[in-house]
Amino acid sequence: MIAVNQLKIEMRFDDKKAAAVEEAALRKKTAKVLGIPDAQIREIMILKHSIDARKKPRLFHVYTLGVCLKGKLQEEQAVKRSRNANVALFTPKPYIFPESGSEALAGRPVIIGTGPAGLFCGYMLARHGYCPILLERGDDVETRTKAVEAFWKDGKLNLDSNVQFGEGGAGTFSDGKLNTLVKDKDGRNREVLRIFVECGAPSEILYESRPHIGTDILRTVVANMRDFILEHDGSVRFGAKVTGLEISDGALTGVQVNDTDVIKTQNVVLAIGHSARDTFAYLHKIGVSMEAKSFAVGMRVEHSQRLINESMYGAEHGAKLPAAPYKLTAQTSAGRGVYSFCMCPGGYVVNASSEEGRLAINGMSYSDRGSKNANSAIIVQVSPDDYEGSGALSGVEFQRRLEERAYVLGNGKIPVQYFGDYVKNEPSVEREEGVKPCTKGEYMFTNLRGLLPSSCETAFLEAMEQFDRVICGYAGSDTVLAGIESRTSSPVRIHRGADLQSPSVRGLYPCGEGAGYAGGITSAAMDGILVAEKIASQYRVFR
Ligand SMILES: Cc1cc2nc3c(=O)[nH]c(=O)nc-3n(C[C@H](O)[C@H](O)[C@H](O)COP(=O)(O)OP(=O)(O)OC[C@H]3O[C@@H](n4cnc5c(N)ncnc54)[C@H](O)[C@@H]3O)c2cc1C
Repeated sequence: MIAVNQLKIEMRFDDKKAAAVEEAALRKKTAKVLGIPDAQIREIMILKHSIDARKKPRLFHVYTLGVCLKGKLQEEQAVKRSRNANVALFTPKPYIFPESGSEALAGRPVIIGTGPAGLFCGYMLARHGYCPILLERGDDVETRTKAVEAFWKDGKLNLDSNVQFGEGGAGTFSDGKLNTLVKDKDGRNREVLRIFVECGAPSEILYESRPHIGTDILRTVVANMRDFILEHDGSVRFGAKVTGLEISDGALTGVQVNDTDVIKTQNVVLAIGHSARDTFAYLHKIGVSMEAKSFAVGMRVEHSQRLINESMYGAEHGAKLPAAPYKLTAQTSAGRGVYSFCMCPGGYVVNASSEEGRLAINGMSYSDRGSKNANSAIIVQVSPDDYEGSGALSGVEFQRRLEERAYVLGNGKIPVQYFGDYVKNEPSVEREEGVKPCTKGEYMFTNLRGLLPSSCETAFLEAMEQFDRVICGYAGSDTVLAGIESRTSSPVRIHRGADLQSPSVRGLYPCGEGAGYAGGITSAAMDGILVAEKIASQYRVFR
């Protein structure tokens, strides 16, 4: 196969939208680049696609294509003749799961949590004959969705089935962005995307530079993955909160579920996510080695999606293209990093709380990214130096204090404010004109000053000014703020060695975001696969 990089095709527009690029146009352009008649091209596949908007109003599709010619020799000759740095021979590298080990498993491996880390770990172990048992404190995705929508409607919080807890984990009610910065020399990233497609996600995610599936599709994918695990002799239990570990001579012998029954096992994958504060406290109490970890806190910022599209793609064509994403970073005069996080084009600000009297938010969108607003968290890095008190759980307490403040400020609803009033430190009253909050969960206009720790508030204000120079109107007086974005990643790291096991308990595999080894859906899923590989390469199959 030949890889043709940086193949640019200018976008054409009718009065409503961008015209789709026909395969014929790709063929014609590829043949021109390779200097061959396009009849010699047997097959073209898109390996990467992105949009280049640097020469607005001219916009370009940018492709990396995989091209198969009618003969191997022809491919080598075409590459040699092209003398083009963007043209090279290419052999796709398939993902390979390791050979099984030789040790016998005393019991079936147990996975705590069915977020991306637990689900992909379970999927791989089931596919390769290890009959895993997945334990999830929350409900299956169908029941959970009803509980979450009821919470957004009437504020009644289900402590074990909510935006953080339940089948699919934290990412289920999300924007479903699947990009990650994690290096992928072993092909796990591609394998994650391939499994997503195998379980119902659109195939474009395999080549889009910013793959995204939206919460509606993600819910189906999660249910299909569960079915695959069940069809391959795995089992999944919902409403099954792990409340204890059985340990003898430093090694795991079982897990306790719902303070009652015990499952005998010597291998437990701890894929509990960043919000399992009760489980963190239990693990800390029994001496599982962990430490407080840096993360970031901030507020969500909402704009009209039209403003963002016109800024990203230009006023001429902006409204004719799908909802545009953006990424912003700033370094403040005090040296704090402030950046946009989990940007949701055409999305919603969601009440993502999981504890009574504490309010945390996040962002979500559907696959069509059809809401009229764009939102993103603007977050400030914090570290254990910022947390009152010390100890492994000091970051958890830091989050809790902020979420209690947010709960009070909004009287249990999402506290929001116009940026102009925030700067003037005056409470906001809702206005007819301007940006209208797009939320899942009720909101209340108030004054958000004092919600963030003062050093973070200063950094936030300074960064908003910088961002306004990048996206004109970003710090507009009618920009809507919402608080508090506190669950950006885990406040703890649960230690693991090169064998991916806890140094405190043999057979315990801290995994995913909660344990501090991932940030985001895809990197959590990749870490789940990594742990599955480790278990499989030590033990022979269970069935
Ligand atoms: C609203 C929202 C939107 C997001 N949007 C995106 C996005 O667009 N793209 C992206 O990449 N990331 C996004 N994220 C982050 C992403 O969801 C997480 O990084 C990812 O889900 C982490 O996966 P995980 O499997 O490590 O943990 P989680 O997904 O948090 O899953 C942990 C699971 O463990 C279960 N559990 C916890 N304790 C126990 C126990 N004691 N017993 C049994 N089960 C237990 C929980 O119920 C939960 O289901 C979003 C997060 C939220 C909340």
